[in-house]
Amino acid sequence: MNHILRFIPILCTCVAFAACVQADPVRHMADGHGGASHYTMDPHSFARPDEAVATHLNLDIHVDMGRQRIHGTATYDLKRQSGDSVVFDTYGLSIEKVTLGDGSEAKHALGDSSSMGRALKVALPPGANKVAITYSTGPEAKALQWLSPGQTKDKQHPFLFTQGEAALTRSWIPIQDSPGIRITYDAHVTVPQELMAVMSATNPQERNSEGSYRFRMDKPIPSYLIALAVGDIHFKATGNRTGVYAERSMVDTAAWELADMEKMVEAAEALYGPYRWGRYDVIILPPSFPFGGMENPCLTFATPTIIAGDRTLTSLIAHELAHSWSGNLVTNATWNDFWLNEGFTVYFEHRITEALYGKDYNDMTTVLGYQDLLKTIAEIDSGKHPEDSALHLDLAGRDPDDGMTDVAYEKGYALLRLIESKVGRPDFDAFLRGYFDHFAFQSITTDTFKAYIRKELLGPKQVDLNLDEWIDKPGLPANVLVPTSEKFAEVDKELSRWSTGAPAKGTPAKLLNTQGWNTFQWMHFLRHLPPGETPARMDELDAAFHFSASGNSEILAAWLEQCVKNNYQKAFPKLDEFLTTVGRRKFLIPLYQALIATKEGRERALEIYAHARPNYHSVSVRTIDDLLQWKGPRS
Ligand SMILES: [Zn+2]
Repeated sequence: MNHILRFIPILCTCVAFAACVQADPVRHMADGHGGASHYTMDPHSFARPDEAVATHLNLDIHVDMGRQRIHGTATYDLKRQSGDSVVFDTYGLSIEKVTLGDGSEAKHALGDSSSMGRALKVALPPGANKVAITYSTGPEAKALQWLSPGQTKDKQHPFLFTQGEAALTRSWIPIQDSPGIRITYDAHVTVPQELMAVMSATNPQERNSEGSYRFRMDKPIPSYLIALAVGDIHFKATGNRTGVYAERSMVDTAAWELADMEKMVEAAEALYGPYRWGRYDVIILPPSFPFGGMENPCLTFATPTIIAGDRTLTSLIAHELAHSWSGNLVTNATWNDFWLNEGFTVYFEHRITEALYGKDYNDMTTVLGYQDLLKTIAEIDSGKHPEDSALHLDLAGRDPDDGMTDVAYEKGYALLRLIESKVGRPDFDAFLRGYFDHFAFQSITTDTFKAYIRKELLGPKQVDLNLDEWIDKPGLPANVLVPTSEKFAEVDKELSRWSTGAPAKGTPAKLLNTQGWNTFQWMHFLRHLPPGETPARMDELDAAFHFSASGNSEILAAWLEQCVKNNYQKAFPKLDEFLTTVGRRKFLIPLYQALIATKEGRERALEIYAHARPNYHSVSVRTIDDLLQWKGPRS
């Protein structure tokens, strides 16, 4: 997942979580696909894989776009170790029937309701190793976003997409919903015949007239990577193994923007070994998608806000592609180990973009990420959970989403940059390649990683590194490598020409040397404008650089944040339009945070949110509801 989420204090859910899970700790790690069968405690799942673990899912579902409901049967092959039952995670599902392999009814019960959902316990007579659960989703299916035609780009047909990470797949499939448990799956999905379905599996490239689609994922993956999208979807190839899915009016533009995908796959393979998932395709979703991207195997789900018209925002695709190794191939066993997914992926992403776009590009994105990290750590330090700026988290009793901050991404990346600087790039690359091969298709914990890197790299190279401090302690260790960028130094020079003597004097905007600046240089410029810019100077900047009219979402979002901070009213209609159409959490948080910094701004935030909220995915709604302490639309 690529999101960059600024930290905000979560108000309510903790207590419920603690009560339901701690009472029944479970252990699981490296599940039954030839992996060892002992487990690590996953505080966010009811499943008991130490007794019975699913190894394969056969999913047969119908997607009812009219009633916004999925109905069908999930049939599991089980590997049994002990006990006489199997436990699944569910959230808001109606369980209609549970049968065994011989078709007989199975005794089953749903546990108490909690914010983690309800455990579905199924009794297993001796020898039984197949269970079929017939169910339907409910209105609370947090993983599902149903869009009306009006909320899509082409406004002709409804659209559905799923977002399972972190612990939401249980709201559309009864499943052992833990990253430490891996299954293969095949699926049969029926949808209205004018629509197409795609999944994180082998995908059709053409729609069929019956609205009936079959999918197969023959590699064992964790539940959060099972994904589905349904809509007026079209396909266009961008290479032998790569292509783009999108709505009709978007597919050509998207294919042009992502023309480098094939090169990215080759660059990634040259670094860390073969791509093991067959095809690598991307689907561009409607603008309400809450993240930048989601690394669903074979089919990355991505926001349309990366379509900038100049191919400058495609590093996100490099990020999601890199997850094909770090995250999808070698997975965090629990959400406390989330940095193993994201820290490695940010490092890998930068190696791909460096190979394609050069060192300057990398230096700039590294500095921008580091700036975000410093801001996030400062916010976490002053928040309810200062311990959350450690890489190895303890999220027992809390929503796993609480751990999805820049820390996992950028502090993880900073640690790997440091290790590279200590052992040298050739040895570090050999280590990473070995790491991916050794733990391929497994889920591991932070402790397993520590033991492995000490044995395979730090020990043999006799490197003295404060690894435990980096991984277990909050904050940033003193030996962090602070990144710099020559390209940003050029921007800093123009910034001081603009700022010196402000607001009266300073170099007029149109005389600043900004020729050839790319997205990141503009982002750096906008982030570092002097505070207290007057409407006249904001006018001057907009007249010279046309920020309000920018089709580049990164530049527009950074500009709109300055407009709020400087109360530049002229841009408020654009702000309203942006917040109403774009549901990407990374952009929503800083803008709403800037608005609620003042009384009038809070009024404006609540006004905009009242009509924007229905367009957001539940992940964004939870975050912004908390930020605004939303009590519902005012009468
Ligand atoms: Zn990611």
